[in-house]
This record gives sequence, C-alpha cells and structure tokens, in this order.
Amino acid sequence: MSTRRPLIAGNWKMNGLAASAAEVERMIGGAGPIASAGVDLLICPPATLIARLAALTTGSPIAIGGQDCDPRPNGAHTGDIAAEMLVDAGAAAVILGHSERRADHGETDAVVRAKAEGAHRAGLLRIVCVGETQAERDAGQAVSVVARQLAESVPDTATGADLVIAYEPVWAIGTGLTPTPEDIVEIHAAMRGLLRTRFGAEAEGMRLLYGGSVKPDNAAVILNLPDVDGALVGGASLKATDFLAIAGAC
Ligand code: PGA
Repeated sequence: MSTRRPLIAGNWKMNGLAASAAEVERMIGGAGPIASAGVDLLICPPATLIARLAALTTGSPIAIGGQDCDPRPNGAHTGDIAAEMLVDAGAAAVILGHSERRADHGETDAVVRAKAEGAHRAGLLRIVCVGETQAERDAGQAVSVVARQLAESVPDTATGADLVIAYEPVWAIGTGLTPTPEDIVEIHAAMRGLLRTRFGAEAEGMRLLYGGSVKPDNAAVILNLPDVDGALVGGASLKATDFLAIAGAC
C-alpha cells in the first residue's frame, strides 16, 4: 500500500497575466475538500506571476512552482533565473526538462540533471519530465528512451521527498491523444523499478505523474492506475473548474 500523496500539478507554460489571479482565486475556493482528501495541489505559472500568485495562495492548499531554473545560484547570466530566486519569489517546486524546453532550448539530459542539482541546493521540490516522441514509440523504444532520460536527468541527490517524475509522451502533449492505460502502466512500472534499483527505499516515496492531454473526462481512469501518483496538467490547468475536476478524480 503506497503512502505517497497524490500530486496534481498545473503547468501554465507561457500563459497567464495579472488577470489570471482571478482563476487562482477560484481554485483556492474549491481546493479545500480536495486537500482534505490528501491531494497536493501545485500551479506553475510563468516566472512573472510567481510572486503574485505565491502571495495570493499563502495559507491555502495550493502551492506555486516554477517551470525552469538555471543550474547556477547567481552571476552574469542575462535573462536566467536561479533556483534560489524562485524560492525567494515564493515557489516551492520547479518543473525541469519539459519536452518543450528540451526541444526549444536544446536541453540535454545533462543540462536537466544540472538544473535538478541547482533546485536541490535551493530546497525546491523537483519535477523532472521524461517521455518519448511518436517516432520513438513507433520504433518500440518508449521504455528504453524513458529509462535513459531517467538515468541521465535525475541526479544522485534525489530523495523520496524531493523528487517527482512526470512521464509525458511528447506526442500526447496538447494533442488530445493519450497512451492506453496499459501503456501508461508499463512505463510507470518500468520507472518505479529503475528508481528502486538506483535509490532503494527512497524510490517508494518518489511520485510518478502522468502528463499529456489529461482532462476531466479521462482523469479518473489515468489517476487510478497503479504507480500513477498524480498528473502534470497543461491546458486544463488554466481553468479552475477543469483543474479542480481533475484533482477531484484522485
Ligand atoms: P497538456 O500539457 O495537458 O496541455 O497536454 C501537458 C504538459 O505539457 O505538461
């Protein structure tokens, strides 16, 4: 029997302005019963909104996170944001190695790993994303690609309390497509096995999220699969009603 608390994390990507605070107020309004049921809630807005939303959610069941951080603590790196700065702005977590960053910014597994070390140094919960492309799945390489990303993106400092893995097949993100339940179970079981081999008992505490076109109408099936400890939600996390409906399906 797992003692892992489900985590529903919203990834707002490059969406959200000051007016989006009203949506978060609606989330706060509906979050009480979900939190009482033992579900952790996290919203990761663009960096520009972290301080504002962290202030708004103080004392509520909703935590705020970043979508990326630089590996270094400070310095002459124009435009970059250190993990310590996310903490300073009120973030409790950070998403790392999302496939959009791997694709748009050339982030390799080694870069993701360095960022995860930076997040650890600052004391952030780290959500490391992995997932195969359509071509890799078609070639029968889904498990091996995820295994490689897991091995190379996750640092040795990972613990059950501060590492979350999000399995996000690239082809399922923003497309309305999802893997079959069997395919999700296969990947999550493989990830749990690899984490056990590497981290021993700590692996039992590491939460494994599924991400990619999670919506209110498919959340219950996905969230009740073995070794699925929550979801990383993109588009559907922008609306309080959808986000709360997904979290309520845990
Ligand atoms: P989606 O995005 O829910 O809009 O498919 C998920 C993600 O990219 O984290």
